[in-house]
Amino acid sequence: MAVGILALQGGFDAHRKTVESLGFEAFSVRSAEELERAERLIIPGGESTVMTRLLRRFGLLTLLRERIAAGMPVFGTCAGMILLSSGVAGSDQETLGAIDIEVARNAYGRQSESFETPLNWGDRVLSALFIRAPRITCRGKGVEVLVSFEDAPVLVRQGSCLAASFHPELTGYKGVHRYFLNEMDSEPRTNEE
Ligand code: GLN
Repeated sequence: MAVGILALQGGFDAHRKTVESLGFEAFSVRSAEELERAERLIIPGGESTVMTRLLRRFGLLTLLRERIAAGMPVFGTCAGMILLSSGVAGSDQETLGAIDIEVARNAYGRQSESFETPLNWGDRVLSALFIRAPRITCRGKGVEVLVSFEDAPVLVRQGSCLAASFHPELTGYKGVHRYFLNEMDSEPRTNEE
């Protein structure tokens, strides 16, 4: 399986290493051809406004929407979650609307206030690192909450889309990537919500 890592900006290399350490082929996505080749896509952390601007400049925004609608599994971390969300609280920032959540940006503190905390995921415990992370402020009924922190969901799934407020690629915990790579099937979007 060819796993694309959106590599326009931000922390894509740690995702590539994590995917490869799990025995999958990972490659950088910067062009339409590369995006077409991806059977799955990871959208890394970084700066969501910059990433959206670059997606448009590189001619990838419409194609990415189409691939997601057609069911390509996609996993967004931090800024990647913001991109996948249906909107940013109190802002008209453009997003992809792939997961029915609204987010507040930088809601867990500044860069210097980054922190790591253990969180339960069923009977597993993962270590979650928050860096200027988005907080989910509301969600639709179709959104499955996998992990929460302080009453807010921080790992959510809707169909073939997965999003984390935190950075599993930076802590050595591979369970979230393993879940994305092994347990998520392609699910084309339907219009029934
Ligand atoms: N604060 C960034 C944004 O709003 C996200 C931070 C991150 O990805 N670590 O885009």
